[in-house]
Amino acid sequence: MENTSTSALANEPLLRIEGVSKIYDGHIKAVDQITLNVASGEIFALLGGSGCGKSTLLRMLAGFETPSQGRIYLGGTDITDLAAYQRPINMMFQSYALFPHLSVSDNIAFGLRRDGMAKEAIAERVEAMLKLVQLSQYTKRKPHQLSGGQQQRVALARSIAKQPKLLLLDEPLGALDKKLRVSTQIELVNIIKEVGVTCVLVTHDQEEAMTMATRMAVMSAGSFLQVGSPKDIYQQPNSRQVADFIGSVNIFDGLVKQSPANSAQAQCIDVECADALLRVPSNQACHVDMAVGVAIRPEKMLLSHKKPSAKINHVGGVITEMTYFGAHTNYHVKLASGKVLQVQVQSHVDEDNADLSWGDQVYASWGDNAMVLLTQ
Ligand code: ADP
Ligand code: MG
Repeated sequence: MENTSTSALANEPLLRIEGVSKIYDGHIKAVDQITLNVASGEIFALLGGSGCGKSTLLRMLAGFETPSQGRIYLGGTDITDLAAYQRPINMMFQSYALFPHLSVSDNIAFGLRRDGMAKEAIAERVEAMLKLVQLSQYTKRKPHQLSGGQQQRVALARSIAKQPKLLLLDEPLGALDKKLRVSTQIELVNIIKEVGVTCVLVTHDQEEAMTMATRMAVMSAGSFLQVGSPKDIYQQPNSRQVADFIGSVNIFDGLVKQSPANSAQAQCIDVECADALLRVPSNQACHVDMAVGVAIRPEKMLLSHKKPSAKINHVGGVITEMTYFGAHTNYHVKLASGKVLQVQVQSHVDEDNADLSWGDQVYASWGDNAMVLLTQ
């Protein structure tokens, strides 16, 4: 039952997605039972590989697709059955869809004119938008006379000119080359934050999601695998799939052993792997002989010629590859089992280990908190 008391409304998220599914042609489950709250002012990223349902979910928010199941609420109002143009929502597409024959100003003014806004008010709004995206000196240019990054900013200005409550971005930087993407990501976030508009953004690029989003969902096959802040998801992935999808990771496969009966170690789980015994801080429910993974990020490992004195939480191997990147060096270390570790060492740390080179026998070690137990 709908609770409409004042306190309930005060806590109402701006966007509430409740059990939404989309089934195409009677059998293609593009989106499967998604439930999500997005608070006012958030930049929320949907991240996942091609075909996992990101655009379909976004299109249902915009009103271009009707859910097969579930409801969508904006500011507490059920908008599931509203037509796209009736929703205070704007969507910006990857292709920008700018009108090629209209000037920058007219592109931005287009939606305002169609809504019958007064002429002076339109001029004022367009000017403010141009200033916001720093294109005031390009008002008369046509889209083809602008760079890719500038076109992208015109498209953004047009999307927020009508002051939507919710801004939807589908692969907003997909048409830009890598270098321009990175600088535009930050620019875009600054503009979105300045306007204060709540945003749901779709991307298949994990770095883009991490850079731009306040919170994100990792999607696969129409479902959310994990929802959280970029930091949480990077540091505490809840499954192999998420750990693998977000950045580089080393995953050790092993079996849970009987933990030592020492109460100080009660929060640890011992995992016997081919190359080492790992003692992983974790309070997850595990049973003896259960197959699990232990994830460790490459930058959380240290390399040394010297064998650590402890019996656990390190592995030995041979350097088979090293690539110098200036600020850091990436090493490949081949273990006895044949497994190849990726280790990233920051240059200032590396100076102490400057003599590490190809073919060396080395030991990789890490802090207890670098390990994440993966039970699925
Ligand atoms: P993403 O944006 O994550 O790449 P989409 O939401 O575009 O994924 O697509 C999800 C799944 O739904 C895919 O299997 C795709 O082929 C299918 N799909 C998308 N749109 C349609 C449609 N209009 N009709 C039938 N199947 C579709
Ligand atoms: Mg898509």
